Amino acid sequence: MSDKPVRINNFDNIRIILVNTSHPGNIGATARAMKNMGLSKLTLVDPEDFPSSVATGRAVAAVDILESAIVTSTLEEAIVNSGLVIGASARSRRLPWPLLSPPQCAVKVADESHNNEVALVFGREDSGLTNEELQLCHFHVHIPADESYSSLNLAAAVMVVSYEVRMELLRRQQRVAEGDHDVASARGAAEDVVVSGLDWDVPRATGQQMESFYSHLEQAMIDLNFHDPENPRLLMMRMRRLFGRIRPDQMEISILRGLLSHIDMLNERAERGISVEQQRKERKSASLEKSTAPARDE
Ligand code: SAH
Repeated sequence: MSDKPVRINNFDNIRIILVNTSHPGNIGATARAMKNMGLSKLTLVDPEDFPSSVATGRAVAAVDILESAIVTSTLEEAIVNSGLVIGASARSRRLPWPLLSPPQCAVKVADESHNNEVALVFGREDSGLTNEELQLCHFHVHIPADESYSSLNLAAAVMVVSYEVRMELLRRQQRVAEGDHDVASARGAAEDVVVSGLDWDVPRATGQQMESFYSHLEQAMIDLNFHDPENPRLLMMRMRRLFGRIRPDQMEISILRGLLSHIDMLNERAERGISVEQQRKERKSASLEKSTAPARDE
């Protein structure tokens, strides 16, 4: 745990991600909604038409957000640095995922955006986010619109979620201004508020670290004949949901990667006919050697 004060600037740690947007007008309107709500980081995943004068026209005074937007070809690339990923979804899906209302989403974002990049992900105008994309998210957020027409315009959905996030951050900022230095409520307060850092000791694993972990896990399960890629069922989806719920930190993920590497090593030796018993003996004598070796500073 660090005693260093944490300078909070949550708004800068929130990234809006639009996936495969077809209408440039929606990109411009999203930039405008973001600027209205104090957000500035925009990533466009494989946009159909960008840059575009239509987007620029709709952004009005938020052209700077379009100019600094990052363009990637996949959602995986867009979330490489994100420690919390929340996907906005208009529909319920086959495998239920941890679901938040917009105010609950705002609380999560405010809680975590001071020391993690938070990604808020929005889908295609016609078909939303794919199941694979939704599985890259730790949580889903659903705006409880009227059942007779529950799908909002893309930029309107960005506005609703961003507004809730802004309100939550402003409430916390207000509480701090009123002298409430309780860290739980001060955490996540808006710009330039300094609180003593009662944070988690290690940052959450990023999107990139999680993706490498999932590939490694999948390969290890295949090598162990535990997982049949020809008949995958929902195994990887369930694994993603499990670890997404826990949200391991970077140290925990590196321990799990180490464990998987050991499994790889045992597997590879088993293929070469070296029995587990033999391997244990080898390890024992290796550790004996180590313990009798002159002590080193570690
Ligand atoms: N027809 C699509 C909806 C696309 S709307 C579908 O059925 O999935 C474009 C995007 O706006 C969605 O992918 C989602 O990110 C967001 N959105 C629209 N309505 C929403 C709602 N009620 N709750 C949460 N997100 C919503």
